[in-house]
Amino acid sequence: MKDDDLNFDKRHIWHPYTSMTHPLPTYPVVSADGYELILTDGRRLIDGMSSWWAAIHGYNHPMINQALHTQINQMSHVMFGGITHPPAIELCRRLISIMPVGLECVFLADSGSVAVEVAIKMALQYWQARGEQRFEILALRQSYHGDTYGAMAVGDPKNSMHDMYQNYLPSNRFLHIPTRRFGENWSKNDALSFSQLFFDHHKKIAAVIMEPIVQGVGGMHFYHPEYLRLIRMLCNQYDILLIADEIATGFGRTGKWLACNHADIIPDILCLGKALTGGMMTLSATLTFRHIAETISQSKAGCFMHGPTFMANPLACAAANASLSLLKDNSWRQCVETIAVHLSSGLAHLSLHPNVKDVRVLGAIGVVEMIQEINISQIQRWFVEHGVWIRPFRNLIYLIPPYIISKEALMILIDTISGALNQPENFIS
Ligand code: PMP
Repeated sequence: MKDDDLNFDKRHIWHPYTSMTHPLPTYPVVSADGYELILTDGRRLIDGMSSWWAAIHGYNHPMINQALHTQINQMSHVMFGGITHPPAIELCRRLISIMPVGLECVFLADSGSVAVEVAIKMALQYWQARGEQRFEILALRQSYHGDTYGAMAVGDPKNSMHDMYQNYLPSNRFLHIPTRRFGENWSKNDALSFSQLFFDHHKKIAAVIMEPIVQGVGGMHFYHPEYLRLIRMLCNQYDILLIADEIATGFGRTGKWLACNHADIIPDILCLGKALTGGMMTLSATLTFRHIAETISQSKAGCFMHGPTFMANPLACAAANASLSLLKDNSWRQCVETIAVHLSSGLAHLSLHPNVKDVRVLGAIGVVEMIQEINISQIQRWFVEHGVWIRPFRNLIYLIPPYIISKEALMILIDTISGALNQPENFIS
């Protein structure tokens, strides 16, 4: 890639959450293989991010590649209105058989945010069909569910997205998450404050939405499973739908197949995305129970009112089918457990560092929370110079590597983080 290309990129192309006047640097990747990203100049970076939770099998996986080649020779896309096709049918069959029993009606869409929009719309239409005026969604403080409007409206109002679009967003209600974290002792008192909210407002609440156990963008918090269990119980008690956003946590990332499994609960509506295709294509799935789907279908409209152009894209479904085949033998479990052990032992000593607030690990997620804000462009450059791809945000350096990463490569990621902490210029004092 020429300098000219990079200048063009800088001048004309938006990147996620990046200024067009003072853009953060971008690094030119020309290929990716296994757990490595390869830059134009030939440098290989060990990937600590799985392209934001998605590339769980690593990159360029021969089986997923093969599935895509086979599918592309059949058809890359066809509309889903009035048409169906084998990759979608296979995928939905598979999802129904591997997701909690009863979640048997599947809506396939383009991205995680859209899966959340679909889930919210399902909940609203469900109550409309039942003749009840329920227009609020209850969400959690520090939550994040995507960047589209419905999804933003259930993200923590304290984050800047709410401030900016406030006059256009529906207003929802938010619960404080209890301070007890995953692995700590639970006290019944932790739940008192929010039980009251259910009691006072349940007649207006269509659904509760939550990221089970792990709140990602909101701060990489791991909260107590008992909280999730309690919310499930309150939803049952007050007849409120529970939406689980497993877009980041699904498919084993937290050490369980779904993060909901930590609390042994089943949501009424489940959102999947990211790793659904092994990170190869964009695709999401929203699953629900038949009685909910049937109630929605009895609403005034007579159907669920959503139908994206690229719904159930055959290529994306083929990638998802190949990815699910790779997960079928359960070897992910051993991989995630091994990563968890190395992350725990490798990162533990960093908690003694004077600038580190906290170190935590759950499954194949390792987090180093700093006291200071991170100088993102500086630390990113430092990481790239040291051969790794890690993209921190705010005061959080975190690792969510592909499940297939080797111990040696994981140790390099960990040691590089350790080295980065001793470079004052990587932080904003
Ligand atoms: N929910 C959660 C928990 C997420 O982490 C994300 C993406 N970061 C989304 C929803 C939105 O997914 P997408 O970026 O595919 O729209």
